[in-house]
Order: sequence, then C-alpha cells, then structure tokens
Amino acid sequence: LSAVTAEVEEAKQTFNPEKAGLLVKELRKSFNSGRTKSYEWRRSQLENIAKMLEEKEKEITEALYKDLSKPEIEAFISEIVQSRSSCNEALKELKHWMVPQKVSTSITTYPSSAEIVSEPLGVVLVISTWNFPFLLSLDPVIGAISAGNAVVLKPSEIAPATSSLLANLVEEYLDNSAIKVVEGAVPETTALLEQKWDKILYTGSARVGRIVMAAAAKHLTPVILELGGKSPAVVDSDVNLEVAVRRIMAGKWALNNGQACIGVDYIITTKGFAPKLIEALKYGLEQFFGKDPMNSKDISRIVSSTQFTRLAKLLDEDKVSNKIVLGGQMDEKQLKIAPTILLDVPEDAQIMQEEIFGPLMPIVTVEKIEDSFSVINSKPKPLAVYAFTNNEQLKKGFVDNVSSGGMLINDTVLHVSISGLPFGGVGESGMGSYHGKFSFDGFSHKKAVLYRGFAGDSDLRYPPYTPEKQRL
Ligand code: NAD
Repeated sequence: LSAVTAEVEEAKQTFNPEKAGLLVKELRKSFNSGRTKSYEWRRSQLENIAKMLEEKEKEITEALYKDLSKPEIEAFISEIVQSRSSCNEALKELKHWMVPQKVSTSITTYPSSAEIVSEPLGVVLVISTWNFPFLLSLDPVIGAISAGNAVVLKPSEIAPATSSLLANLVEEYLDNSAIKVVEGAVPETTALLEQKWDKILYTGSARVGRIVMAAAAKHLTPVILELGGKSPAVVDSDVNLEVAVRRIMAGKWALNNGQACIGVDYIITTKGFAPKLIEALKYGLEQFFGKDPMNSKDISRIVSSTQFTRLAKLLDEDKVSNKIVLGGQMDEKQLKIAPTILLDVPEDAQIMQEEIFGPLMPIVTVEKIEDSFSVINSKPKPLAVYAFTNNEQLKKGFVDNVSSGGMLINDTVLHVSISGLPFGGVGESGMGSYHGKFSFDGFSHKKAVLYRGFAGDSDLRYPPYTPEKQRL
C-alpha cells in the first residue's frame, strides 16, 4: 500500500508545466476532432452531470460536511439544488442557445444576410475556490460544456474532500478525453497557468485574480474573474424589521457562516435606528442558533486555521475588540467563531478595509440613510449591495448612484438564483459574468458571419475612382 501511496504522491509532485502541457495537448486534440462541438456531445455530458447529481447527493453533502461542517440542508440547497438548476436549464435551453442569431443587413451589402454564430472557444480552464467548493466548480464547467469546449477544472485544495470527490466523479461520469480535473494548490495552478488556454474562469480573491490575469495576458487569453469585496446591507428605519433581519442573517451566518462572496460584509444604518436593529439581530440570532451558537449544528465552522487566525486578528485590534456588542467567542480547536456584532468600528480598522469573509458583522452608522451612498462609493466596488427600505425614491437612489456587481432590494443573496441575471463583479469585485445563458456566452466566441451571393456586384466600390463615381 505504501508503494502505491508513494507512486500517487510522486505523480502529484510531478505535476509540472510539462505535464500540464501534455494535458492541454490531449484536450486540444479532442477539441480539434470536433466532437465537443456537437449538440449530442454537449447534451450527453450535461445529462451525465444531471445523473451524477441525482446519484451522488449523499457523497456530495458528506464531502461538504468534512470540509466545512456545512449543515446538510444548507449544503443541499446552496450547492446541489443550485447545480441542478444550472444543469437543467442548460439542458432545456441548449438547442435554442446554439441557434445563430440573425441580424439585419444594410443597403451597402445588398443582397446579403448576416448572423452571429456562437462558436466554442477551445480548451478552457476553471479555477475554483473553497467556500461553495462543489457549486463554484461545477457551475462554470456546465457553462464551458454547454458552449462546446474542452475543459480542465482545478478545484480548491482548501476543501480537499470536495476536490477529491469532484476528481472521482468527473472521471466516473464524464468524457475524460475532453473534461479533466487537476487537483492541487499553488504549484499545480501555476503549472496550469503557464499553458495557453482559450479562456480562464477564476473564482477567488482579487490578489490571486491579479496573478491569473497576468498569466493569461502572456497568451492574450480572455478571463472571467469572479472575485469578492465588502458587500454591505443598508437598513432604513421604515422596514419590516423582523423580515429584514431574518434575511440579513440568512445572507451572513446561515450562509456558510459569512464565508460567502455575496454574504453581507457589514451593515449601514442610521445612528437613531442602530439600537433597534441590534436588538432585533440579537433576538433573531437566538431564534436561529439558540443561546449557545458555538454549539449549534446549524452553522458552518471556519474552513481552516489560516482563516481562523486571520479573523481572530481582525477582531483582536484594540479599536475593534472594544466595539463588540454581541458574540466574540472563539474556539480555535474546533475552528468556531460565534456570530459577532460590532458597533461603530473606526473606518481605518483592518476589519473595515478588507473583506471579512466570516461571522463578524460591523455596523456602520450614518446621520441620514442617503449618506450610505458615499460610504459604499468610497470603497472598491462590491460584488453585491443589499438595500432594505420601503422608500421608492431611495430604492431608485441606490440603483442610480451606487455601483456594484449586483443589487438586491429588500433581501440578500437571492439575486444569484435568477438565471436571467448575470452573476459577476465590477472593478475590484471582478470582470465578466456567468449563470444561465451568460455562462454559455462567456465560454463562446460570437462570430460575425455575413453571407453574400455573386449578384449585386456594384462597380462603385472598385477602382478606378473616376470623377463620375465620385459625383455619385
Ligand atoms: P484564493 O484566491 O486564495 O484561492 C482560489 C484558487 O486560487 C484556489 O484554487 C487556489 O488553489 C488558487 N491559488 C491560490 N493562490 C494561488 C497562486 N499564488 N497562484 C495561482 N493560484 C493560486 O481565494 P480563496 O481564499 O479560496 O477565496 C476567497 C475569495 O474568493 C474571497 O475574496 C471571496 O469573496 C472570493 N469568492 C468569490 C466568489 C464569486 O463567485 N465571485 C465566490 C467565492 C469566493
């Protein structure tokens, strides 16, 4: 057994640029055979994904529990149901998506017809992250396959159980000469990034996003970067507080315990309303997780000790730790941090500078609710903005004046479940988007095709440019 283990380890160690090159070569051969372009191939792979999601539900939730103690129902809804709906939509719409789109022509090309043809890009790379390690790996792969590409998926090493499950499932269910998983961390990703890809979709931090984009630039490879940021929830005083608070809690602690790119990072409300909001949050948290949230089965743990230490450090800053109004408990051994609320943390504290990505929730207070526009706009553009208000003018104010990847009025997170809406960031929160047809488009080239016959070949456009022609 140890010999086998050593062999596996060696194979892993030797995943170098040369191996990565061979892998891309193999996939390119499959792509060039034309097989992946056919409707039948795309459909069969999507059907196999749907079958896999039916048959391996238990294995998937178990892996997610191992990686994040993710509660089964949360894992089922946020990872399996979402993957299923992406896959089913692609199966339902694929034929329609693939049809070239007719466009009108002009008098200068008469007679002619024109269309936009969605052509697969070739061999694409998907680099994924650990917080929704199943969904955020599979969802882009569904898009890449729908568009007829060969694809390599590199899941996150920080969610090892899910990464290994994905590698096994792809091998078992999908066409391995065109769809592959490469497991590993920085060395493996670096080796992959040295290759020439036809598109890269990366999900993760802006820091690594820059590394990915720099590597892609060497080959003029286009990228979709799905990054994060500080996504605020703004709470006006005219809201249904009970509902608003539940929805905010659902978009923070009941969503992977705050470890979500679209999770609520911090709250903005008015000075006058803050005490009422804090009371409602305290009550709501007890309803969700009981009197002792550290022992609740309904809340995920922190993914790793690195992330735990980072969060502990954010809370440890002197000007932060004296602002705790609820929570603050930590258990390093079990990687647990209680839902924690902080009031009026100074703006220069690290917790207000970086994406929190955990269960700490600062509340920023402003004189009037419209001041929240400038609070948000003074920071890098976030992935999402959640505005809770009954005031129609204020709603319009947010839509017109605040820039963010997505925006949701009077709820959190649910905008990502609407497949007709593009999912992606702007500025520091990312570029490009996917979900539904946007995934198909993101992995396709829109080829402009003009068809002409041999009639209507006017002399006018050809030399010699005689004075008669010029007069016309
Ligand atoms: P990360 O950037 O550290 O890791 C993501 C991936 O990059 C992993 O697969 C990892 O192996 C790889 N990687 C890490 N370092 C690398 C390097 N030096 N060179 C090449 N590859 C490298 O990100 P993370 O900590 O896993 O994720 C947290 C961030 O991701 C947060 O900012 C969060 O908001 C964002 N995020 C965004 C989305 C989205 O859909 N927009 C979803 C989830 C997370």
